[in-house]
Amino acid sequence: MNIQENIALKDISTFKIGGKAQYLVYAENQQDIIEALRFAQDKDLSIGLIGSGCNLLIQDEDIEGVILKMNTKSIEIKDKQIFAEAGVSLAMLANSGHKANLVGLEWAPSVPSSVGGAIRGNAGAFGGETKDTLKQIRVYRGGRIEDIDKSDIDFDYRYSSFKDENNTDIILGGLFELETGDVAVSKIQIRDNIIKKSQNQPIGVACSGCIFKNYEGLINEDLYNQYPDLKTFVTKGIIPSGYLIQEAGLKGFTQGGIQISEKHGNYMINTGTGTYRDVIKLIDMVKMRIYDIFGVSIEEEVVYLHQQMKKR
Ligand SMILES: Cc1cc2nc3c(=O)[nH]c(=O)nc-3n(C[C@H](O)[C@H](O)[C@H](O)COP(=O)(O)OP(=O)(O)OC[C@H]3O[C@@H](n4cnc5c(N)ncnc54)[C@H](O)[C@@H]3O)c2cc1C
Repeated sequence: MNIQENIALKDISTFKIGGKAQYLVYAENQQDIIEALRFAQDKDLSIGLIGSGCNLLIQDEDIEGVILKMNTKSIEIKDKQIFAEAGVSLAMLANSGHKANLVGLEWAPSVPSSVGGAIRGNAGAFGGETKDTLKQIRVYRGGRIEDIDKSDIDFDYRYSSFKDENNTDIILGGLFELETGDVAVSKIQIRDNIIKKSQNQPIGVACSGCIFKNYEGLINEDLYNQYPDLKTFVTKGIIPSGYLIQEAGLKGFTQGGIQISEKHGNYMINTGTGTYRDVIKLIDMVKMRIYDIFGVSIEEEVVYLHQQMKKR
C-alpha cells in the first residue's frame, strides 16, 4: 500500500475543487484496501471513498482521515456474467461485455463513473440504470468481505441503500448479467447516446454532473399557464431541476469562479478559480429562487465528501 500525506484532492474530482487529504491511498487491489482500513482503524481515523470523482464536492478546508481512491480494475467474465471491481469505469464494463458478445449496457458509457460509484448512486441515463443488470455486490462490511444479493439492497431513482447515513459498506465490485446480442448495434447505440449527451450537457469542462436531484412531487397548478411544460413533467412524475433553473432565468449566472452552465441549468462549471464556497453560495441562491418562483424545494444530488467520512 502506498500511503501519501497532505495530498491535494482537487485533481481527483472532475469539479477541480477542494483542499488536501490528511492521507490518500490509491487502492490498486483488495490488499491495498484492507491495509488502508487497518491503518485508519489503528489511528482511529475516518475513511472516505472516491471512485471516478464525477459526483463530488470537496470542501476548501483540508480533510482529516484517509481517502481511498478506488483504482481496482480487475474484470472476470463467465458465460453471461461479468464481475467488475469497484474502480472499473462503466465504459470499460460495457466494452468488456462486447469482447464476449454481451450487450445490455448501451446507456452506461455516456455516464462517467466507476462501478462502485454507479452502484451506490444507481447511476443511469437513457432509460437504463445500474440496478437493471446488477445481480450481486461484493462489499467490505463490518470487518468481512461479503457477496450480497441485489434484492437485499433498496434501489430507486439515483438512490441505493448504500447512500443511507449509517451505511459504512465499501463496495468492492459488482456482478452484472448481460445478454448475448449484436455488438455492432450496441456500439452504434452507445455512440448515439454519447452524441446526444454532448449536445445537451457540458463536455470537456470542470464540473461534477447534475448538482440537484430532479424534483418528484406536486407543484402549484396555477403555474401551468406561465410554464406549460410543467404539466407534461408532472404527468411523467419528475420535473427536471435543469428546467426549473432555466425557467428561473439562472443559466449563465456566476458566483466567483463558478458559473451555472449555459447549456444545461443543472450543471455548474468551474471556470478555473472556483471554490467550494462559491458553489455553496450558488446552491443556496438557486434553491431560494426555485422556492420563491415554484414553491418547491430541490435537493443536492452532488455528494459532499466531508459528509462521507466514516469509521469503517
Ligand atoms: C459530465 C458529467 C455527466 C454526468 N451524467 C450523468 C448521468 O447521465 N447519469 C448519472 O447517473 N450520473 C451522471 N453524472 C454523475 C456521475 O457520473 C455519477 O453520479 C457517477 O455514478 C459517480 O460515480 P463516481 O465513481 O464518479 O463516484 P464519486 O464521485 O467518486 O463518488 C460519489 C459517491 O460514491 C461514493 N463511492 C465511490 N466509490 C465507492 C465505493 N467503491 N464504495 C462505496 N461508496 C463509493 C463516494 O464516497 C461518494 O459518496 C455525470 C457527471 C459528469 C461529470
